[in-house]
Amino acid sequence: MTAADTAARCQHLQALEDAIRYRRARVAGPCGACAAAPGRLCEDHGRDLGLIGEYERTAGRLLRAAPYALGSDTRVTAAAALLAEDHQPSALATADLRRLLARYSKRLAEVLDAIAEAGS
Ligand SMILES: [Zn+2]
Repeated sequence: MTAADTAARCQHLQALEDAIRYRRARVAGPCGACAAAPGRLCEDHGRDLGLIGEYERTAGRLLRAAPYALGSDTRVTAAAALLAEDHQPSALATADLRRLLARYSKRLAEVLDAIAEAGS
């Protein structure tokens, strides 16, 4: 893998993290439609959650293509373990959902740190 490939992948992961942060902020905001159906998200926020899942899967694919040394970093393996957890977002209460999103956000940030270190 060339340095240019690595830089492009880091940029892609950074864009995914930004998109996830944006969607997560949307889901975390107050919403009358969500409040009207306790324990569930409204259509808009459910869609946000679906997109977050897609972004996470894309990030996971990018990470699996990473060099072995990076793939064995504990921050990367912790993120992989989180991705491997089986969650049913539609069955989670909003508070649990937000905790899960916070974990995803933290793990992705750690992975980006690991990549930044590996690329430096
Ligand atoms: Zn909503």
